[in-house]
Amino acid sequence: MVQELLIPSDHPRRVSLEIRERLVECFRKGMVVEQGLIAHGRGEAYDYLIGEKTTSTALNAIKTAVAALLLAKEPVLSVNGNVACLCSKEIANLAEIINAKIEINIFYRSKERIKIIEEELKRYYSKKIYGVEENNYAVIQELSSARRIVDRYGIYLSDVVLVPLEDGDRTEALVKMGKKVIAIDLNPLSRTSTTAQISIVDNIIRVIPLMIKYAQEYSRVNREELQSIIDNFDNKSNLEESLKTILRGIR
Ligand code: ATP
Repeated sequence: MVQELLIPSDHPRRVSLEIRERLVECFRKGMVVEQGLIAHGRGEAYDYLIGEKTTSTALNAIKTAVAALLLAKEPVLSVNGNVACLCSKEIANLAEIINAKIEINIFYRSKERIKIIEEELKRYYSKKIYGVEENNYAVIQELSSARRIVDRYGIYLSDVVLVPLEDGDRTEALVKMGKKVIAIDLNPLSRTSTTAQISIVDNIIRVIPLMIKYAQEYSRVNREELQSIIDNFDNKSNLEESLKTILRGIR
């Protein structure tokens, strides 16, 4: 209601403003931290430059990511505060279709925040949520402090991990552990985008619904065809294309 009053339905950048309002609401609930709001602002700037739409380059990465997740033995979708706020329902739907685990993996860790994120996910997802039980915590050796914690039966065990809006250190550490890492990050220059094997340079709001669409379609495709989608993908040149789109946006 408040949102309707603040943002007129005919506003040309309504969706972007609604997302902003939603994040502020999640911040007030304790799901999103201050740093998450700043990270979103960084993302918004890049989104503006790519034209606030999914580019063909991003779509290419999205299709490859879905193929990799469907071929994985232990796929995991990592969820932080911003992700939970913006697309819990869609993440739950995607996890069901590709038979992936969901793990809460947050940078600024507190029991309360994990509980709030878990409650949000539980509105749409009835299976076990990883990253919650302290008894199952394992550590990523390359990292220090609370950022090193993962679930021994989730990300620690996984072969393919989707890390939306992730920090560069953790992405690098996951790659060093031998995981295939799929990033969703609007910044093609971030360490996350440049380190991940599949980097989707697009807004998570648009990405997850498209992943759901292709997951439904590719569930009927044989393994050889899925593998050939992965083999034909070149992350480095895909990232260069994303940069060119941004440069065109600036011009
Ligand atoms: P890195 O450590 O990877 O070099 P960083 O310090 O920016 O980069 P974070 O702040 O943890 O790391 O990363 C958050 C990233 O998420 C940012 O690059 C930001 O552009 C991106 N981002 C924020 N909101 C969205 C969104 N809605 N969709 C996609 N990406 C987003």
